[in-house]
Amino acid sequence: MPRDGDETTTTRKRDLRTGDPVWAGSPHSTLRRRRRLPSERYDVAIVGAGISGALVAHALADGERRLLMVDRRPPLCGSTLASTALLQHEIDVPLEALGRAIGRAPAARAWRRSARAVEELAALVREAGIACGLSARSALYLAGDELGGRALRSEAEARRAAGLEAEFLDAAALRARFGLEREAAILGRPAAAANPAQLAAGLIRLAQGRGLTLVSPLEIADVLPVGDAVALATADGRLVSAGAAVFCTGYEFLERLASRRHDVLSTWAVAVRAKGRLPAWLRRTLVWEASDPYLYLRTARDGSLIAGGEDEEGPGVHDDGARLARKAATIAGKLEALLGLELQEPHHAWAGAFGTTSTGLPLIGAVPGLDRVYAAMGFGGNGITFSKIAADVIAAELAGRPDPDADLFAFPRE
Ligand SMILES: Cc1cc2nc3c(=O)[nH]c(=O)nc-3n(C[C@H](O)[C@H](O)[C@H](O)COP(=O)(O)OP(=O)(O)OC[C@H]3O[C@@H](n4cnc5c(N)ncnc54)[C@H](O)[C@@H]3O)c2cc1C
Repeated sequence: MPRDGDETTTTRKRDLRTGDPVWAGSPHSTLRRRRRLPSERYDVAIVGAGISGALVAHALADGERRLLMVDRRPPLCGSTLASTALLQHEIDVPLEALGRAIGRAPAARAWRRSARAVEELAALVREAGIACGLSARSALYLAGDELGGRALRSEAEARRAAGLEAEFLDAAALRARFGLEREAAILGRPAAAANPAQLAAGLIRLAQGRGLTLVSPLEIADVLPVGDAVALATADGRLVSAGAAVFCTGYEFLERLASRRHDVLSTWAVAVRAKGRLPAWLRRTLVWEASDPYLYLRTARDGSLIAGGEDEEGPGVHDDGARLARKAATIAGKLEALLGLELQEPHHAWAGAFGTTSTGLPLIGAVPGLDRVYAAMGFGGNGITFSKIAADVIAAELAGRPDPDADLFAFPRE
C-alpha cells in the first residue's frame, strides 16, 4: 500500500492481470462527496473529477462562485489514477516538428507555455502545501528510432533558441554522466514527478473549502445552452443549470463535444524494484526516448521504478488481461536493457487510455457552437501539464480576460 507522498511500498507478488495502478489506495486521496445533488443551480458545473477538473476547480474556487463537480465514477478513478505522473514541459511532438506543423513562432510559444505550466504547477503545490510527493527533476530525452543524434542536436538548438533549457549530450557525455549507451540525448528542465491521486485530491479538497460541491456518482448525458445558462441533463433524468459548464472528461466525451482532431490510445505501465541499487542520478531524472513504441521511466520515493509506454491505437485494448501481462514483461525487459540492471517481478502493472492530437497539443477552451460550454481534451503523454494550462485558459476566459496563448489550444471551427 503506498504511504504518504509518491510511495509504493508493496513488494509481494501480485496478479498482474488485476491491473491496479500503483497509486490506488494512496493515503489522503479519498474525498468527501455527496451522492445526491443538493441544488439544481450553480455558477459553474465541472464534469469530471480527475486532475483537469481538480485544477479547473482550484482555479475557479474563489469563495463566491457556487461550483459543482460531478463524476459518473468515484472521484479520481479515470486516467488520473493510471498516470505515471512525469510532469514534463516537453510536448510529444518535438519543437522542430511542431514548428513545421503550425509555424515556428507558435510552436515556440506552446513549448514555453508548457514549461511555464510545469513551474507554476510546482509552485502551486508548494504554496498550497499539498502533500503529493512532488519533487523537481530533469528530463533526459534519449535518441531512438524516431530521432537520432543529429536530429537531437538540432532539436536542442531549436529549444535553446526558443528560450528553453536544453543541453545536448553526445554518446560520450551521456555515458560519462548517466552510464547509458545511446547515440545522444537532450537534458532538459523544468520537470517534476508526483503522486497524481494525491495531487488531484489535494486540489479538490482546497476547492471544497471555497465553494465546490462534489457529487458522485452522477453521469451527465447531454448539455445544451439555454438562454443565459447551460442545461445539463443527467443520465438519471434530472436537469442542472449552470452559468457555464466545463467538460474535463479525459478521453471520454459526449458526442456533441467530439472533435475530428482527437484520437484515443491505450498505454501500459509498471512499478518494479531493481535487485540491486539504482544509480543516484535516476532519483533526480525522468527518462524518455525518441522511439516508437517508446519507453519512459522515473523513480518513486520508495525507490521503485515506474515505467511505461507500448502505446496502441484504440481506447478498448487496455482492458485485455493477457495483453497487460505481455506489455508489463516487455516494459520490464526494455528497462533492464536500458539501465543494465536486473529487476524483480513488477509489483504493479496497469493500463489506461489517453487522448492525443496530431500536433501533440491539447484542445482547450470554448466548444464551437455551444455557448458557455468549455472543454479540455486531447492530452498526450504530458497530460497533467496540459491540465494546468487548461485550468488557466478556462479560468481566464470565464473572468473575461482571455489568455494570450488561448489561440494555440482552441477547438477548430469544424
Ligand atoms: C498509463 C498512463 C500513463 C500516463 N502517464 C502520464 C505522465 O507520466 N504524465 C502526464 O502528464 N500524463 C500522463 N498520462 C496522461 C494523464 O494521466 C491524463 O492526461 C490526465 O490524467 C487526464 O486527466 P483528466 O482529468 O482530463 O481525465 P480523467 O482523469 O480521465 O478524468 C475524467 C473523469 O471524467 C469522468 N467522466 C467522463 N465522462 C463523464 C460524464 N459524461 N459524466 C460524468 N463524469 C464523466 C470520468 O469518470 C473520469 O473520472 C498518462 C495516462 C495513462 C493512462
